[in-house]
Amino acid sequence: MEVFREISALRRKLKEIRKKDMEIGFVPTMGALHKGHLSLISHSVEENDFTLCSIFVNPIQFNNIEDLNHYPRPLSTDIEMLSNMGCDLLFCPDEHVMYPSKPQITMNFGDLESIMEGKFRPGHFSGVGLVVAKLFNIVMPDVAYFGKKDLQQFAVIQTLVKELNFGIRLTCCDTIRENDGLAMSSRNVRLSESERQIAPLLYKTLHFGKELLLEGQNPPDVVHHMTRLLENNGNFALEYIEIVDSETLRRVKDCKNHNSVSICVAAFLGNVRLIDNITVF
Ligand code: AMP
Repeated sequence: MEVFREISALRRKLKEIRKKDMEIGFVPTMGALHKGHLSLISHSVEENDFTLCSIFVNPIQFNNIEDLNHYPRPLSTDIEMLSNMGCDLLFCPDEHVMYPSKPQITMNFGDLESIMEGKFRPGHFSGVGLVVAKLFNIVMPDVAYFGKKDLQQFAVIQTLVKELNFGIRLTCCDTIRENDGLAMSSRNVRLSESERQIAPLLYKTLHFGKELLLEGQNPPDVVHHMTRLLENNGNFALEYIEIVDSETLRRVKDCKNHNSVSICVAAFLGNVRLIDNITVF
């Protein structure tokens, strides 16, 4: 696997790849790779002639400086993992390469800004949108792969690609979990041993909510029961539980009026913010 840190050298390399008519699959990440990221890489390797992964801890999408400062950055193990997966190229630019000066553009994703991650992390999607737009312009892939774990982020990227005519196909891959149900996340390593034992309750709560909805209980009651289950544990500081339409991510009043419904949750466990979601149907 080749490793590039500069944009111009990467562009030259990719020009050669495109000349050979090879399809490029792209997996943007912030590193500290785990099996969730690797599943995206493996989809891309399977479906394309050339797979490019980027690792860039994007400072402008962090609305919490603590979170940014503590973000794990184990680059050499990441490189080894990517090579073993058959990834062809890693782009890992330094901050000054991506942002030679303070970016002046901000983005606003409309309705997506007023719920869930948009509401609780002001400016987050602007940072995500800007860095992904920059990476798409640099890499110009045929397909890009994202994880369902960040369901609302996927909706943001879909909006970006549609409204700015990027001409890139988007694939959303299933959430990869630990055996006890905890969604894999780079932030999980920051959980203490006891927090790690408690963390799977988040997924259990999602499952509980799914069962209640499938039994026919109405969304506000389900949110209430889920909140009680999570808060009774005493360790989680809940930010939101939302039952939403899986496409629009708008809050659902009655499941009968929707083709697909998801439940999304975000909560702090100690200092670590965890998010997860489940598809009900
Ligand atoms: P991140 O490095 O956290 O920015 O994530 C990079 C990509 O990996 C995003 O598209 C995430 O949605 C995806 N991802 C993160 N965790 C998982 C997981 N447990 N399963 C599948 N995809 C994931």
